[in-house]
Amino acid sequence: MQLVGIAAMVRLQRQLLLAFVLTHDKQSGVDRCFIATLETLIELVMACKRKQPSNKDMGGLNGQRLKGFCRFCGVRAELAMFAEGESQRDIDEHLRLSNLYCSAHRPKTPDGSWNPAYRQAMRSVTQFDLELARLSRQCAIRTEPLAKSGDELVDTYIFRYMLGQTLHLADEAELRNLARLMVDMKLTDRKKQILALQKLGFNQSEIARRLEIERQAVSKALRSIPDCFRISIA
Ligand SMILES: [Zn+2]
Repeated sequence: MQLVGIAAMVRLQRQLLLAFVLTHDKQSGVDRCFIATLETLIELVMACKRKQPSNKDMGGLNGQRLKGFCRFCGVRAELAMFAEGESQRDIDEHLRLSNLYCSAHRPKTPDGSWNPAYRQAMRSVTQFDLELARLSRQCAIRTEPLAKSGDELVDTYIFRYMLGQTLHLADEAELRNLARLMVDMKLTDRKKQILALQKLGFNQSEIARRLEIERQAVSKALRSIPDCFRISIA
């Protein structure tokens, strides 16, 4: 950690964990222990980070607690909830409260079984971070596309979609929840392109031609998109 710094250390641990989940994890007892160990190491590194002296204000330490957001969404992590007296969890419960995850995304459920939502969120963490970064870049600006996705239509979609929202950069919880929803609802970049073109007045055949895909693929994609992601604003 002295060599690479805390942020790089956390990234490295996360990458190792992700690599394991994606390639080796068979959900065996040993695998679970290994994942739990890596999670503990990450928590340890995060704990070290929080122990760093802050420059000035008392807010530094609290600020470092990242408002206690779950790694995978905009809900606060269990420990943060507990610290603020909002948790209903019984204090005698032998389960350790999670520093890093909300109750929906904790690695294990209260009965000790493995939590599928954790695994799914871990698999999609890169996409979550990507969507969150795009939404964050765009959310405060109403004059031009700024998502910088590398694709003009995807940028157009995020620009138009955010016009219909009232989010600001400070609404971190809502932004994180929105990014989570996009990932969980599988609003892929392809679907964003289709929605952008539809908003620009293209019909399904024209969208298919433009994106060089089958028209059926366009209509299938459109059917699968939840209403909340359609661009409401004219
Ligand atoms: Zn969560």
